[in-house]
Amino acid sequence: MHMRKGLIGLLLVLQASGVFAQDSVIMARTTGQLPFLEYGIGDDRLGGAKIGYLDSNILVKIADSFNTDYKVRLSAYHSAYIAKSSVVLLSKQVNRPVPHNPHLSGHIKVYGDSASDYVVVNLDERYPYRSFQLLDPSRVVVDIFGITSNSNWIAQLRTAKEIKNTWYEQVEDDVFRVYIQLKHAQHWGYSLSYDSTGKRLVIRIRRQPALLDIRKLRIAIDAGHGGDNPGASGVTSNISEKDYTLLMAEQLRKTLKAAGVKNVFMTRTADTSLSMPERIAMLKAYDPHLLVSIHLNSAGSDTIQGTSTYYRYIGFRSLSMAILDRMLTLGLKEYGNIGSFNFALSGPTDYPNALVEVAFLSNPADEKKILNPKFRKAVAQKIYQGITDWLNIVNSKP
Ligand SMILES: [Zn+2]
Repeated sequence: MHMRKGLIGLLLVLQASGVFAQDSVIMARTTGQLPFLEYGIGDDRLGGAKIGYLDSNILVKIADSFNTDYKVRLSAYHSAYIAKSSVVLLSKQVNRPVPHNPHLSGHIKVYGDSASDYVVVNLDERYPYRSFQLLDPSRVVVDIFGITSNSNWIAQLRTAKEIKNTWYEQVEDDVFRVYIQLKHAQHWGYSLSYDSTGKRLVIRIRRQPALLDIRKLRIAIDAGHGGDNPGASGVTSNISEKDYTLLMAEQLRKTLKAAGVKNVFMTRTADTSLSMPERIAMLKAYDPHLLVSIHLNSAGSDTIQGTSTYYRYIGFRSLSMAILDRMLTLGLKEYGNIGSFNFALSGPTDYPNALVEVAFLSNPADEKKILNPKFRKAVAQKIYQGITDWLNIVNSKP
């Protein structure tokens, strides 16, 4: 009842403004920094569960309106939610609205350049998509919504080094699914965007580095919080999380440099205020091989303690597990390895990443450790060893 009212209300407003004829559908295009789709209207301290980020200027069909979100229809059986601030309603009717007259896919090209592999899917519009990772065998899967196949060939060139196979499946009338099988067991990330023609979806696949030597990798470190965002505070000392994440991040940078890693990037090196989209933009520009985010945990009860690592995508889980294994040798309790975690910096699919919640500032025993410079040095050493362990594991797989 409420849903119908929402849609009718929106239609009435737009009709009254003379924007839409009575029988038209409301179309919109994504806009702004990092628009993303959500599964539902659920919310918690991390925001609603995300399907994934979208490129800008992507065509979506508005189905309903809620407080701060629109419900968008992706295909006959799939809808999603998007922040109203992430779309611009179109004043002109689009001729063939998704999904009633599905658009067609064209041919697919698979190739590589000196740095990466690419799968390019020819389309006639910028359609919404979602993607996910599979393991054993390692695959990247991309669903393009509102599309019916007219893809009659897939050109696969030998310049592609990481992609073993590419094929598609029309999984529903208007959902076109592209499978990209990788040569290596480990996922090293991928990026989705439309190219400058605006109508070709480009899936960039990161290759496994030729040499799995930590010294040759570009490593990014994010010190949590900063500036006007202090994070949690110590239960007895009242210290701010932002100061101690920075101390540990700097210690990790020193440890990596001492180990011979030349390229280390820090999202902040001072008490700087940085939004999550700003951090993500910096990281994407740096294009690291991997990212480690450092935070300190906090809970409502001071008896909760321990160390934990987090990942969002299953293909990146192995990095967070290797780091946790090493962190547990510091005498910390195990709080766990947590997946599908809706932390903003775990959201990008572009590079393997792990969030380390070193210990609980809200627990007196953990806090005491955090205050100890020797402990912080040991944390940096353990994260470094976790990364090298992970590289050895990756190297041991085909
Ligand atoms: Zn934090």
